Amino acid sequence: MTPGLAPLGLYIHWPFCARICPYCDFNVYRARGETDTLLAAMLRDLEGQARQLEREGMHRPLVSLHFGGGTPSLMRPDQIAALIEAADRWFGFEDGIEIGLEANPKEAAGFADIVAAGVNRLSLGVQSFDDDVLRRLGRDHDGNSARRALDTLLALDVRHSADLIYAWAGQSLDDWVAEMDALLGAGVRHVSPYQLTIEPGTAFGKRADRGELLIVDEDEGARFFEVTQSVLSDGGVPAYEISNHAASASDQSRHNRLYWEGADWLGLGPGAHGRWGESGRGGRRATAALRRPADYIARVSLAGTGLEPIEILSSKDEAAERILMGLRTMDGLDRDCLRAKTSHDIDTDTSLDFARQGLVSLSQDRIALTPAGRLYADRIAQELVPE
Ligand code: SF4
Repeated sequence: MTPGLAPLGLYIHWPFCARICPYCDFNVYRARGETDTLLAAMLRDLEGQARQLEREGMHRPLVSLHFGGGTPSLMRPDQIAALIEAADRWFGFEDGIEIGLEANPKEAAGFADIVAAGVNRLSLGVQSFDDDVLRRLGRDHDGNSARRALDTLLALDVRHSADLIYAWAGQSLDDWVAEMDALLGAGVRHVSPYQLTIEPGTAFGKRADRGELLIVDEDEGARFFEVTQSVLSDGGVPAYEISNHAASASDQSRHNRLYWEGADWLGLGPGAHGRWGESGRGGRRATAALRRPADYIARVSLAGTGLEPIEILSSKDEAAERILMGLRTMDGLDRDCLRAKTSHDIDTDTSLDFARQGLVSLSQDRIALTPAGRLYADRIAQELVPE
């Protein structure tokens, strides 16, 4: 680790999917045609961002590299290997670097090749084992392929995770417990259970606008959340973050910890966001790449990176982000770190109020959500941001 600088990760966004799920509001496009032009632009962007960090005295080796999307398991193994090799060339890797990739069950036949390309942690988008549910969610795999992909993943010598989606309208708690039990029974050591949400502009968003009921109501959502916590915890995979559960510290996602702990990460690829630096060191930089692949490629060829002009966050905006993300972890927010990096603290009166209501546990140097508070994480975080 470079003294004085936060750990640095790299997020790589592969924006293509075989088909677009009706609930998804990520920056995604239907996969069609060749993708080597985009890969070449991403390789050049990586060099441009490495040089930028060098100029600012912020260059350091990577602790994590994460392929997200989109569906990065649609990339060819040689494309994955090219990005890993370039990241090593331009930044270097810390010992024990985590190289993660989000994988679709339909690409299970290629998982071993993805691992051979250098990936050492795979997150499988199971979502459900039930054919009807998967159809309802607009997924392009079925329950059997999810089970087979999970078996393939668990037979590989890599760290792993599996995602499930819950709290869709009509789901019973028994159905949901059975989905979690299937993962636990298979020996999964990291689970990311996500409540289905309706995002504006998505196909589900339009159907919800027409009055269709697609998700459970808030009270039911709270019951689902509580059952999720207890089933996974009793199954030996307790929460370490609102939507992430791990059997042990070594099973946790090191890359996601960078986000929650307010460390640094670069964003590479169309629409990817990055954060690096801090108020005391020239400001917290917020980067965002152009979203459409064609625009991104054109920007890289003109400017050497695919980024919009870099924004410097105000110390208050930096504090707001650190509070929002830090509160998501079961360890809670490190207040000493918040004060040191931003010169702000949480709003003290509000935090005392929340403590009296049993929603947070509070000390001079830390604040964490209680189990009751976790149901209102975002609202609590927003109110803790100082005026
Ligand atoms: S596969 Fe994932 S990223 Fe792609 S559209 Fe579906 S939810 Fe979105």
